[in-house]
Amino acid sequence: MGDCVRRMQSPCVLLFLQQLCKKNGIKMIREIELNNRTVKYDLQYKRVKNINLRIKPDGSISVSAHKRIPQTIIDDFLISKSDFILRALDKCESEQARVQKRYFSEDEVKNKILRLCEEVYPYYKEKGIQYPQIKFRKMVSRWGSCHTQKKILTFNTNLMYAPTECIEYVVYHEFTHFLHGNHSRKFYKELEKVFPKWKECRSKLKEINIR
Ligand SMILES: [Zn+2]
Repeated sequence: MGDCVRRMQSPCVLLFLQQLCKKNGIKMIREIELNNRTVKYDLQYKRVKNINLRIKPDGSISVSAHKRIPQTIIDDFLISKSDFILRALDKCESEQARVQKRYFSEDEVKNKILRLCEEVYPYYKEKGIQYPQIKFRKMVSRWGSCHTQKKILTFNTNLMYAPTECIEYVVYHEFTHFLHGNHSRKFYKELEKVFPKWKECRSKLKEINIR
């Protein structure tokens, strides 16, 4: 089942499509002017009592209504909720802007990480660690990984959404894995020694939302 798109259809085709969507409970994409702002929402006819309005964290608006409720009533309902809807949309937008603040371009972050690796390496060299191969990948679930046997450190290019100190933390964290493979007490004790701000940076990283 796809969405019926309202635009680019002749009125007659449109009416037919609307009826079809209504009958089969398919989502329709609609637009409405609220305080001079065009707002898109999807409308789905369901077995609900009246009209339900839902705004998701990504700012998408879903309306479900009983099939007997005419469009004009739905429009009036949305207009009566204008302030609430627009406030919610503004909040979603600022939230997304905050979450996705980008500090570096992809090239910049790669160069930064390579430089940091060289900077921190002397400490590990003294402990007999061989300089690892540095790789980059876009990852969703972790900021970096360490393959101790193959001597590879992989860094998440999404670190471009992280401030410098957090990137430093990830570099130290991954290098420390060459000394302690898992997240044991010894691992954190070692990390504390070379990068005392690790806890603070770890929490900051947790706040970054990568989709
Ligand atoms: Zn780790």
